[in-house]
Amino acid sequence: MLISEAQKNGSKKKYFENILLFRKKKSITDLDLRNKRVLVRVDFNVPLDKHGRITDDRRIRFTLPTLHYLLNENCKIILVSHLGRPEGKVEDSLRLTPIYKRLKEYFPLNNILKAEECIGKKVKQMVKNLKPRDILLLENPRFYPEEKENDPEFSKELASLAEIYVTEAFATAHRKHASTYGVCNYIDEKGYGFLMEKELKFMSIIMEKPKRPYTVILGGKKVSDKLDVIKYLIGIADNIIIGGGMAYTFLLAKGYRIGKSIRDLSKLDEVRDYLEESPNFKTNIYLPRDVVVCDEYLYPKFVKVVPITNIEEKHVGVDIGPETIEEFKKILDKSKQVAWNGPLGVFENKQFENGTKEIARFLIEKKIFTIIGGGDSAAAFEKFGFQDEVSFISTGGGASLYMMQGTVLPAIECLSDKE
Ligand code: AMP
Repeated sequence: MLISEAQKNGSKKKYFENILLFRKKKSITDLDLRNKRVLVRVDFNVPLDKHGRITDDRRIRFTLPTLHYLLNENCKIILVSHLGRPEGKVEDSLRLTPIYKRLKEYFPLNNILKAEECIGKKVKQMVKNLKPRDILLLENPRFYPEEKENDPEFSKELASLAEIYVTEAFATAHRKHASTYGVCNYIDEKGYGFLMEKELKFMSIIMEKPKRPYTVILGGKKVSDKLDVIKYLIGIADNIIIGGGMAYTFLLAKGYRIGKSIRDLSKLDEVRDYLEESPNFKTNIYLPRDVVVCDEYLYPKFVKVVPITNIEEKHVGVDIGPETIEEFKKILDKSKQVAWNGPLGVFENKQFENGTKEIARFLIEKKIFTIIGGGDSAAAFEKFGFQDEVSFISTGGGASLYMMQGTVLPAIECLSDKE
């Protein structure tokens, strides 16, 4: 029933309305930026190690085309980004200092400044002193409860810093926060940047005009997030390959024993529905045939490959097996387009990375057009050193999910319409 409901309630229609809405909005190239003060909402919510060092700066790197474009227009740039979840109070470990340092490396010829606050008198003074081509990084807006509350006063203060607003924060575009949404009420001219444009373009490739056969790979362990995606992809994708921790809830739904493997019992009925209904919508769902099992994730006493019919009570499934890898490769070999969200095993452990790595390598070697979504799949590509060889890695998982479901992205909705 679930799939039919998703189709009936017009989610796909709403999705297309979403895309049309985006096409009506101003992009950075539609704005008169010359010599202006521009507030750019970026999503520099980068992963940090325990020493506070950035482990992956893709979210910074991907905004460089927009920042260079603004510098060429002689703008004064004010950057605002959240980092982590400080829950409305100052947390020193979530200050934007590491990002500030990285920006200085990317822009050695510019004057890069960092404010200790996000709004207030001192910030205003710093903005007043900015010269063309200076870049000012504001402090974490999530240090203020007003940010998440989308508080009008906070939004107004932020807006007062600039003449133009540009959004590059795709990964946060589904949030109605002061810096992503409220601020737009108090600034006349606002548009989206190049990263945002690219993300939305790839989104439309996934949903609108996929090259066929179109295969979606879903892995990882958060079953409920991905089930929402499946609902919207059935009827669009030709094949859905399920791996990673997700696969075990599917195998359980089909009546297999899964030992101590990860599962989401609350989703069993839903999963049964998908398995039953998908053939009616011309979408094939593929599950592993064999899996790598061990006794425990961290210090396994044994690791072996078993067919899915032989998973024992003491087994924990941690990767797809060699027979499955070969079967998945055959499906992928015939595919013209692939979207991949979630690793196929516990890739962080070298012993369990094989499935994810083999499939990633195959897609690259065969030059199959592949879009990667979700932080962990991106981290896996980064770990294997494949990040620059894949067609596109998206910076936002949640926002793309919202779009697929037909929910209007607030950060797009609030931008200026094209004239
Ligand atoms: P997600 O955020 O849902 O994409 O999940 C990503 C995480 O799933 C990664 O950290 C993987 O280690 C984990 N994962 C992949 N396969 C399995 C598995 N078989 N059992 C448990 N966790 C898994």
